Amino acid sequence: MAIFSKLFRRKQPCEHMDLIQEVTPSSPDSCNACVEMGDTWVHLRICLICGHVGCCDNSKNKHATGHYRSSGHPLLQSYQPGEAWRYCFLDERTLPDGQAIRTS
Ligand SMILES: [Zn+2]
Ligand SMILES: [Zn+2]
Ligand SMILES: [Zn+2]
Repeated sequence: MAIFSKLFRRKQPCEHMDLIQEVTPSSPDSCNACVEMGDTWVHLRICLICGHVGCCDNSKNKHATGHYRSSGHPLLQSYQPGEAWRYCFLDERTLPDGQAIRTS
């Protein structure tokens, strides 16, 4: 039965939240990498460690995930107006809301 108790053990809370910084967004309202490519995006996400703004996984280019893969920065927050949910790539889970960075 040891195996079962391991499988069903509740996940630990995210241990990476102390990496979060006061960030300055790299763009006020767009994914710079998409703009450079002349492409479009669906939603924006912001890296909570360096402020990189990139597009979400519903966007063709998935620049926010690309930023995690190239930089190793595991924490992002929604960069949609009024949204403040956060996500940890290492834990693959959403975290308690922060403060919305864009209000409009
Ligand atoms: Zn984490
Ligand atoms: Zn993009
Ligand atoms: Zn970053």
